[in-house]
Parts: sequence; C-alpha cells; structure tokens
Amino acid sequence: MTTNHSRLFIGGQWTDPTGNERIDVYSASTEELIGSVPHANSTDVDNAVAAARRAFEDPTGWSRWTPDRRADVLDRFADEYDKRAEAICYAIARQNGMPITVARQLEAPYPPALLRYYANLARTQPTEEIRPGIFVSNTLVRREPVGVVAAIVPWNVPQTLTMTKLAPALAAGCTIVIKPSPETVLDAYLLAEAAAAAGLPDGVMSIVPGGRELGAYLVSHPGVDKVAFTGSTAGGKAVAQACAALLRPVTLELGGKSAAIILDDAELNLAAIGQSLFTATLANNGQVCFLGTRVLAPRARYKEVVDCFAALIEGAPVGDAVDDKTLFGPMASATQRDRVASYIDIGIRDGARVVTGGSGRPEGQDRGWFVKPTLFADVDNTTVISREEIFGPVLSVIAYDGDEDAVKIANDSDYGLGGSVWSADDSRALAVASAVQSGTVGINGYIPDPGAPFGGIKASGIGREFGPEGLANYQQAKSIYRFS
Ligand code: NAD
Repeated sequence: MTTNHSRLFIGGQWTDPTGNERIDVYSASTEELIGSVPHANSTDVDNAVAAARRAFEDPTGWSRWTPDRRADVLDRFADEYDKRAEAICYAIARQNGMPITVARQLEAPYPPALLRYYANLARTQPTEEIRPGIFVSNTLVRREPVGVVAAIVPWNVPQTLTMTKLAPALAAGCTIVIKPSPETVLDAYLLAEAAAAAGLPDGVMSIVPGGRELGAYLVSHPGVDKVAFTGSTAGGKAVAQACAALLRPVTLELGGKSAAIILDDAELNLAAIGQSLFTATLANNGQVCFLGTRVLAPRARYKEVVDCFAALIEGAPVGDAVDDKTLFGPMASATQRDRVASYIDIGIRDGARVVTGGSGRPEGQDRGWFVKPTLFADVDNTTVISREEIFGPVLSVIAYDGDEDAVKIANDSDYGLGGSVWSADDSRALAVASAVQSGTVGINGYIPDPGAPFGGIKASGIGREFGPEGLANYQQAKSIYRFS
C-alpha cells in the first residue's frame, strides 16, 4: 500500500505546493516505495511563516486567547491524536524501522501525554505575577509567548520529538512551522489531520517537509522568533551558528554516548530486568539519543555482565518493523545502515571482541536496511566506538574498578545526555547518578518523564524540553515597573 499526498499543510489549510519536487518514502524493512509527499520549497516556507506571523499578531487571535481556551484545543488535539495513534505508529514503523511494539510504547502515549500535560500547565501556571519593588512600587512580570517558532525534527522518534516543541509552544500562545525529516513525513500528515480536526485556528501550525537546506532556510528566516532543534551535534552546531548571527533564541537537543553503569550489587536476572535494560540501552534499534551504549561493568562481574547483554541481544527477534514479534528492526535509511555497519567494522579493526553480531546482514534478512545487533567486549573508553555516537544497535562493555572509576569513565565523554545506574542499593545508585555529568540519568531503568526537564550538557545540547522548563522556552518575561 502506498500513501501519496498532493498538498501541503500550510497555515492550517491544505494548500497546493508552489513547486514540483517530491519526497519519495521507502519502507526501511523492505526497501519498497510506500508513499510520497510534496517537498516544500522556500516559497512554501515563506507562506507558512507569513501565516504564522499573521496568526500570532492577530489582536483577537491565538496568542491573545486565555490559556484556558488554548488548553481546551490542546486537549482536543490529544483526543484526535489518540484516534490516529495506531495509524501513526504503523506509518512510523514502516518508514524508519521502529518496531511497532516500540512505537506503541513511545509514539502512541508520549505525544498526547505532552499535549495534556501542557494543557494542564497552561491552566494552572499563572502568566502574570506582581513582585514587590525595591526601587519601584511593584513590578508586573508577564510571561508572554515568544512569537513564531521554527521546529526542526529528526526521523528517529518523529512524533514525540515534534510534540516536545509543539505542545509547549501552543500552550504558551506561539505559532509554529514544523520541518520534519524527509525519512518520516507520512506520520506528519496524520499529525496535521489531528490538528485540523481539533480546531487549531488558521495560521497556528504549518508543516514543511524537506531536508537540511530547507531547514537552514527556515532557521534563518527573518519572520522566525525562536528555533527548537533536535538532531545531530553537527546539525545543531550549524543551527546554533545561524541563530547566533541573528541573536535568535535556540534550544538544541543533540547526540549522546551515555553510560549504563552496572554496580557490583546489580540484579542481572533478565527475567526481572530484561525489558528495562533493553529500553535503556537498545530501544528503537539503537536509534535513540539517550541510550546507554557504553555499558560499564565491575571487573569482578565482567563476564556475567557480558553474558547478560549477549543473552538480551540474542533473545530479541530481528525482523520487519511492522511484525508484532520484532524487537530489532532495520536502520532508518541506507545511509544510516552504512554508517552503523562502518562503526561495527571500526570496532573489529580496533581490536574489540565481538561477543554477538558483527559485520554483515542478520540471518534471514535479505532485504531492508538491517545490521546485526552487536555486542563488543574488552573495549577501552578511548576507542572510536566508545567515543562517537553510532546510533544503531551496538553496545560496548567497558570494565571498571570501583564506583569512582565508573563515574570517571562515564564522564570521560564529549556528550552528556542520558545514562543509567543499576544497583540494589538506592542511596548508592543515587550518589553515582548525582556524580554523572549528564542532563538526565535513570536508576534501574530509563525513560524520560513528561513532567521533568530533559536535555543535555556538553555536545548533547543547550536547554531543556519537557516539564515547566519546556514551557519557559516559548515564553519571554516582560517587566512592567509601576510607580504608583
Ligand atoms: P540531523 O542533524 O541530520 O537532522 C535532524 C533534522 O535537522 C532534520 O530535520 C534535518 O533535515 C535538519 N537539519 C540538519 N542540518 C540542518 C541545518 N544545518 N539547518 C537546519 N536544519 C538542519 O540528525 P538525524 O540524523 O536526522 O537524527 C539523528 C540525531 O538526532 C542523532 O545524533 C541523535 O542523537 C539526535 N537526537 C537527539 C535527541 C535529543 O533529544 N537530544 C533526540 C533524538 C535524536
């Protein structure tokens, strides 16, 4: 079945594209053509930004509505998303290879949860406060929407990563132009349908499918007030440079190379922890920014840890992403497959021991962008596979001696996004988690929570999404000093 769209969602209207270029979408599992959509061009972006600007500046429009009124639309949006959740999960699984069961755990619940979370925050968090003055009588501090937002989204968890920007931006009263990745555009159309069905007013949301160049055009557009970017560290640096030249506020959610620290008292029985361990280190075929892909193992239990992860990987079926049994699907694109495969070869070249997986295609998969889920042992933290983000199902087990050494190795990284600590002793785990230099850490598991800030330090980014911190990205404080 192929899904072909002829129009773009610009300013809340289904609009004919101004150019003829198209984006073809392929199944990651079968390499078959599964759909196509118009490739937006710079004129379409101009139109989207102009619509967003008009809607933002409308004196009776979205940005001037009460937060309660906007929150009602966000709640309806969540309901409309729920109605399409299974279709969205299926579209994502076909496009980027995310196993459908994983899509149901991530892309079904997170986006509507974020919409409802920010609807609730809009209703309950005051946008004005009066502060007693020191040199003035008092100051009225207002939290005003920042304006027109450009949101740039990657392909790996496309709906959740769109919604980490869209939901708080809408709650704050901003208008938004979203640029999805060319690899995952079909789900973006379902999102647009949900927005339209929820009654989002004209101009408030547009979607401009396209690649890097279109993203760069949008980021630097004179009509944009704020940029929210999720993607690679290289892409984030380019976006940051463009925003610096324009003094334009930007949040950057970038790559990671996090550590999963197994303390010497950790439970290693897969029946008890297998699912949590898998989610924290291997979910979505390794294509998640926060995964703990450097597994730090106490030397005394090194073999046990290696055996545990080997069993975890070997016990997870590889297959077509839309098959309910699949836990490892293909990589999202041929480019991504080649990149991951080359890292596996580099690991072998640099002397790491292949415990399971390795070069070549997994058995029985003669089409699709598959790599073999791979576990490397006897890895040193200085090697390429320990330092660079691979973004595939490839784990390295690194030995350490004592908790302090584990923290030292965990922190010896250019990145600082996620990570996890596994221990039977909560206070010991907490001490280690506190010492890890990272924006987020999990204890005996890892998943981001919509109510708590998520983001990275060092090369993993600038700023936080989720939680009240996520809303603050789309607000600017204005002080009105009063003298009487
Ligand atoms: P990418 O940087 O190649 O592309 C991400 C998005 O940015 C795409 O929409 C792309 O078209 C656009 N883009 C790229 N360069 C741009 C530029 N110069 N100007 C404007 N737009 C530009 O990343 P990717 O390969 O699609 O995604 C994978 C990366 O995303 C990984 O590094 C991963 O760690 C990271 N990621 C980070 C988070 C997080 O929250 N920190 C979450 C998911 C993914």
